[in-house]
Amino acid sequence: MNAAPDPLATRAPAGTEDLAARFAKEFGGAPDGIWQAPGRVNLIGEHTDYNEGFVLPFAIDRTARVAVRVRPDASVRLLSTYGDQGVVGTTVESLRPGSAKGWTKYPLGVMWALKQRGIEVPGVDLLLDSNVPLGAGLSSSHAIECAVISALNELTGAGLDAEDMVLATQRAENEFVGAPTGIMDQSASLRGAEGHAVFLDCRDQNARLVPFETRPADLVMLVIDTKVSHSHADGGYASRRASCELGAEVLGVKALRDVQVGDLEEASGLLDEVTFRRVRHVVTENDRVLQTVELLATAGPAAIGSLLDASHVSMRDDFEISCPELDLAVDTARAGGAIGARMTGGGFGGAAIALTPVGLEQAVRDAVARSFADAGYKAPDIFTVSPAAGARRIA
Ligand code: ADP
Ligand code: MG
Repeated sequence: MNAAPDPLATRAPAGTEDLAARFAKEFGGAPDGIWQAPGRVNLIGEHTDYNEGFVLPFAIDRTARVAVRVRPDASVRLLSTYGDQGVVGTTVESLRPGSAKGWTKYPLGVMWALKQRGIEVPGVDLLLDSNVPLGAGLSSSHAIECAVISALNELTGAGLDAEDMVLATQRAENEFVGAPTGIMDQSASLRGAEGHAVFLDCRDQNARLVPFETRPADLVMLVIDTKVSHSHADGGYASRRASCELGAEVLGVKALRDVQVGDLEEASGLLDEVTFRRVRHVVTENDRVLQTVELLATAGPAAIGSLLDASHVSMRDDFEISCPELDLAVDTARAGGAIGARMTGGGFGGAAIALTPVGLEQAVRDAVARSFADAGYKAPDIFTVSPAAGARRIA
């Protein structure tokens, strides 16, 4: 049952000179510039976003880079160094939701969303190179979108701020790509900073950087991609959202954000057993995000392990969005010496994270790999990420 590792998981980012050379080979001439935007990992705060609650993602040291040149006409030519779609050609006028295929829907979605804002979008030649593994819960799609919007914002002189770009990329994903995603991923990618996580209030989009440095604390953040595929479109996600809406309605609040941990005892008498457990996850998870923010500012990352563990238990038992592979990854990482571990992302597959002492990294990797082999699961991809800079121009 072994699958080949995702080649992006072990790939170094292309240097700016290599990218420019590849651009010249494909399109002739030099790009106007090169922009990069990172993927992200959600440290804590799962299924809290659509309950108007708190999330705490961080931008990671894996990025999508785009070399872009404005064209004198409205033609668009796109090429990724990954996959085999070759150069895809279209025009700015013909952009319509549903019209794009494969990876090009992400850059084209951004161009479309900018047009919807009344921005005059020119034709471009665009070369993408990314080392954000795709479909591993690291938001490779938002990394592309955020790199592209950073480039176009500058090249068109549109003058959008981070909040505008967050909303424009959300519109690209929701309406052009057709993925019902929120604001977390692009907020992390656009607003992230090295050595920090992004504390985001999903009610008002207020964002604040919180110190989060792993290396100085002799810790590494391991990502364990279970290779179990997950889909936002499946019934599990919709039914969790419906339970949250029902809970808020019965409890008479605008969103579960407005329920406190101290209200839970009373809530248990008002809700059916399943709805109560769904509500309890969201309410306690919001509280864990706030506690994590507080601890990172005072005691540092070595102090947050038990909150990560509690988050996983809550998702496994109350929200019921884990799966055997994620539970095995988390349990094995903890048994091998990780100080805290949890599934991350929407659930039903995807990746787990394990905050691990530097000296135990190899032991944890080996233990997880062995446990997956013993269970007959696909070999997971295991790699480290660190809190890195947000989207920016690099050449
Ligand atoms: P996630 O964003 O969680 O990684 P998505 O399904 O939203 O998963 O996005 C993955 C999609 O993004 C891929 O199917 C592919 O179309 C596109 N993609 C990501 N990285 C690249 C790349 N380097 N080259 C081409 N397409 C990419
Ligand atoms: Mg995505």
